[in-house]
Amino acid sequence: MNPPTFRSARLRNVTLAAIGLALCSSPINFAAKAADPPRILVLATGGTIAGQADPRATGAYKSGQITGEQLVASVPGLGQLAKLNAEQISSIGSQDMNDKVWFALARRIQQAFDKDEADGVVITHGTDTLEETAFFLDNVIKGDKPVVIVGSMRPATAVSADGPSNIYEAVQVAADPRSRGRGVMAVLNDKIEGARAVTKTNTTSLETFNSPISGPIGYVDTAGGVRFMAQTTGLKRGNYALPSGDQLPRVAIVYSHANMDAIPIEDAISHGAKGIVLAGVGDGNSSKSAIDALEAAAKKGIVVVRATRVRSGFVTRNVEVDDDKNGFVVSEDLNPQKARVLTQLLIANGMTAPGDMQKAFTATW
Ligand code: ASP
Repeated sequence: MNPPTFRSARLRNVTLAAIGLALCSSPINFAAKAADPPRILVLATGGTIAGQADPRATGAYKSGQITGEQLVASVPGLGQLAKLNAEQISSIGSQDMNDKVWFALARRIQQAFDKDEADGVVITHGTDTLEETAFFLDNVIKGDKPVVIVGSMRPATAVSADGPSNIYEAVQVAADPRSRGRGVMAVLNDKIEGARAVTKTNTTSLETFNSPISGPIGYVDTAGGVRFMAQTTGLKRGNYALPSGDQLPRVAIVYSHANMDAIPIEDAISHGAKGIVLAGVGDGNSSKSAIDALEAAAKKGIVVVRATRVRSGFVTRNVEVDDDKNGFVVSEDLNPQKARVLTQLLIANGMTAPGDMQKAFTATW
């Protein structure tokens, strides 16, 4: 039996050779047979989907090693679905995702739609912060053309890599006219999830992206095509202007636990947080000393949003915490990381009054 290092190196070479062959034999701007095939712009940011195994260590790999052009060229049959154009926005693991890349993505997508350069966009992305990027873009991109964000749990060089099939399905969804008006969607593992609801639920499994409250909005597979099961057209999206520059206001997430004190809240304030999202216990709750510190923060004009560390369910106003008296906002269905994104966008758009913010958090279903 070959030692693992040799086996990994061989697999990597075989996969890279396949990618190389595909690159030589099929240019990126495919000439599809049908008249006017949908034009899909692929924006690559990195992630495991573009990752390569480290031949020195079993299971280890580096994110963002393969370009978007190589990724697209390595998926058989993609050129029959759409006319594709791939651009590289960044080459990072999504644990390093940041405002700069978000702003670059948002501006490129809006330009492509406003200048009618594309009928849809597919973003390749790491899975760790995929849901945050999806939700950020859902709030700032104007228009009804589809934006699909896709990742993979296994690197491109893995046995049974899931990237190629996920990319194929993402392009199927982005190229489908019924995808219009549904905002940003995440496509992985044969499911289509809405940007507001989707979250990563498992650290390693292929079946990791779920929408715990609402379920997927549809399904997609190579044979059956795209099947939408739910409408997401009523949700608020594209509501907020992209601020000038490339930075969002500082908003901290404070994680609640047993024996909670006020120190993490005081730390966040001393580091200049304009807002604090509480990843609370239960219905967005915390200890008396934490709630008192948050009330003091709200009195100083720092936006306080109560979310929950619980994976599923709504956070409701004025149940155990007097939100009206304390000047707090509740996140409703948004998890802490998405509540943070919305809080940043609202502050950047000049909104800080708790009543206005609460309206913005409450989705119109
Ligand atoms: N750390 C990787 C990333 O988010 C994980 C992945 O893509 O699955 O970029």
